[in-house]
Amino acid sequence: MLNWPAVHREALDIFVRYLQIDTSNPPGNEKPAARFLGALCEAEGIETEYIETAPNREILVARLRGDGSKRPLMLCNHTDVVPVEAQYWDMPAFEGIVQDGKVYGRGAVDMKGCGVMQLIAFLLLKRQGVKLKRDIVFCAVPDEEAGSDWGMVWLCEHRPDVVDVEFELSEGGGGTTRFGREEAKLFSVATNEKDICWLRLTAVGRPGHGSVPHAENSAVYLVQALNRLIDWERGLTFTPDTEAYITRLAEAGLMPTLSDRAAVEERVKNSPELLAMFINTLNLTMLDAGIKANVIPAKSEAVIDCRLLPGQSKADWMDRVRERIADDRISVELYSPDQGEPARVDWDTELFRTINAVVKEAMEDAIVVPGMTIGGTDNRFLRELGIPAYGFIPCLLSPEERRGFHGNNEFLTIENLNMGCELMYEIVRRMVV
Ligand SMILES: [Zn+2]
Repeated sequence: MLNWPAVHREALDIFVRYLQIDTSNPPGNEKPAARFLGALCEAEGIETEYIETAPNREILVARLRGDGSKRPLMLCNHTDVVPVEAQYWDMPAFEGIVQDGKVYGRGAVDMKGCGVMQLIAFLLLKRQGVKLKRDIVFCAVPDEEAGSDWGMVWLCEHRPDVVDVEFELSEGGGGTTRFGREEAKLFSVATNEKDICWLRLTAVGRPGHGSVPHAENSAVYLVQALNRLIDWERGLTFTPDTEAYITRLAEAGLMPTLSDRAAVEERVKNSPELLAMFINTLNLTMLDAGIKANVIPAKSEAVIDCRLLPGQSKADWMDRVRERIADDRISVELYSPDQGEPARVDWDTELFRTINAVVKEAMEDAIVVPGMTIGGTDNRFLRELGIPAYGFIPCLLSPEERRGFHGNNEFLTIENLNMGCELMYEIVRRMVV
């Protein structure tokens, strides 16, 4: 039997010290984080490898060996964090401050807390001498917040042996409270994610004196095009995955049933987060025109942040955007790096069923659904290889905690840290015995 109170104390201690390592990316400097987590593995006699991908940036790969009757399970987490705007924080962001049952620090929810949950599960299974049917690979990667070139992309390209796994768990989904109703406990296991497709719109016109308006003002072209996009009514797209999502929510009484399509659509349209699962989103994020108050701008530019549903190609989307604008004075080009389109993977697998069973045994009123990550995660690089790579942080984040993702005063409650360690341990244990 596990002494959970002692494990909770250990987890908190590791978490606080981990948050004290500043891995803001850029520049990253994740090596000390890899060494910190690696030292905890080495102290238990676990085999570890540090792979340097760039100066002061390392991937940690630690492995518990199984008997080979099943293929490996990877527990993956990123060690870097997004930078902090310290003036908007009420406390230092890299001290791991514990206050009123909350642990504050950049990375608390994204995703050092989950890294600790994975590490604890990994260490406990080693200590217990559990006979494993498959390897467990604990993998801590740098550079997730800046495109992953020195992290997961590097690993997939240079070390196919490490990513040769049957399943993977990382961030991108998890539990939330207050979905639809106050006491709801909704756990979403992300099995796919949207595709980043930033577009740059450029309008070229004719310059001239500001005192003489003429019909070839590039800024006017651009504004007209943007208005066409902003007013664009696009219908909702239902995929087998989002239908499964709605069906499970409906079973739990948190959504109308799919047979009442109008009611479902109404509900979806009233929540920006839900709506993003059913349309290609389009968001005006950058504008640039003009050099002086009395000069008609010859060139005007805008960037729109588009996120595409799985299975939709960037080229098709750009054609649709051009069609909607219907103005050949506006050029539309891809502004984000073209990393290929994210693949979807099946959700009805041994890993999903295990997560479902463990969570429901722990909380009988919990609802577990396959979901989609609205942002981007490292899972996409593994899904491309056909690996069911799921996003799942096994705790119940409140709306306040969810705001911590790339936000100010990021924190995780100790209660969530404890829950996360217990659930992660049980999920991993069942997958390997
Ligand atoms: Zn993250």
